[in-house]
Amino acid sequence: VEFLSPRTWAEALAAKSAHPDAVPICGGTDVMVELNFDRRRPPALLDLTRVGELSDWATDGDRLRVGAGVSYRRIIEELAGPLPGLAMAARTVGSPQIRNRGTVGGNLGSASPAGDAHPPLLSTGALVELASVRGTRTVPVAEFFVGPRHSVLAPDELIAAVLVEPAAGPQQFAKVGTRNAMVIAVCSFALALDPRRRSVGTGIGSAAPTPVRAGEAERFLAGELPWESRAALDPVVARQAGVLVAGAAAPIDDVRGSAAYRRHALRVLAARTLAWAWHAYRTGAST
Ligand SMILES: Cc1cc2nc3c(=O)[nH]c(=O)nc-3n(C[C@H](O)[C@H](O)[C@H](O)COP(=O)(O)OP(=O)(O)OC[C@H]3O[C@@H](n4cnc5c(N)ncnc54)[C@H](O)[C@@H]3O)c2cc1C
Repeated sequence: VEFLSPRTWAEALAAKSAHPDAVPICGGTDVMVELNFDRRRPPALLDLTRVGELSDWATDGDRLRVGAGVSYRRIIEELAGPLPGLAMAARTVGSPQIRNRGTVGGNLGSASPAGDAHPPLLSTGALVELASVRGTRTVPVAEFFVGPRHSVLAPDELIAAVLVEPAAGPQQFAKVGTRNAMVIAVCSFALALDPRRRSVGTGIGSAAPTPVRAGEAERFLAGELPWESRAALDPVVARQAGVLVAGAAAPIDDVRGSAAYRRHALRVLAARTLAWAWHAYRTGAST
């Protein structure tokens, strides 16, 4: 295996262009598992850990630009204020060791339907910045995933960053697994309230071929939530939101859970996260 070790972003893009079949490696928490289990024998690895630009985050207009190489640990420690949903999801990833190494860019690169960063990115309408020697393009995260473990990333492209609006209101993330830590989601759900726009964002994980939004639930909630009066959440609205979220999923039966269980769990997670987020909005709590 050839080992390519660029020092700058320009060198990394040039290397990916010259070796489109080279597999990028950042935290290595997915790539090394595949190599160790002999599931993959790439001709070359493209090590991104020395590319400093990738592990920066900064304000970029009205969004935060979070480099693809920013680890879960740093998201939790440095970005929980502006990106509470993503930080909540990051806290559920693996173990401290995995959160130290694992990155949002790597989660997107793997494009697993179960990736925990994906639902909060969907719920906040994040953009994925992709780059190659040909130039840079941004893709809404909802259009990034095209199938299980497949994305729109071209062979000569790398993920540069995600662009996320700082939270305008309460956000939530909840995940069902067989235990509390070190677990792949059986299903997961993220919710973002935006009281300024009176809109609601959602993201469903591990319950369809790709991570998906629940568009009908978003539209229903935007119209039904008593934004002005901040009245208590109507249980009928919460229940109906749960039904619409479950309806947006397309789960399968697999070793981790049945399709019926996943739909049921999503109904519960949606109603529960909505209750938490609405309570925070009514009482002025930050999340
Ligand atoms: C024990 C264990 C527990 C885990 N628990 C969880 C969990 O709870 N939740 C969860 O979501 N995941 C979990 N994972 C999976 C993994 O940690 C995450 O998917 C993580 O985000 C991967 O990030 P990474 O930087 O380590 O990626 P890498 O392994 O370096 O790369 C992953 C993929 O992305 C590609 N890639 C990386 N960076 C780029 C880039 N900049 N541009 C283009 N492609 C790129 C790689 O080529 C590869 O295909 C776990 C893994 C392990 C081993």
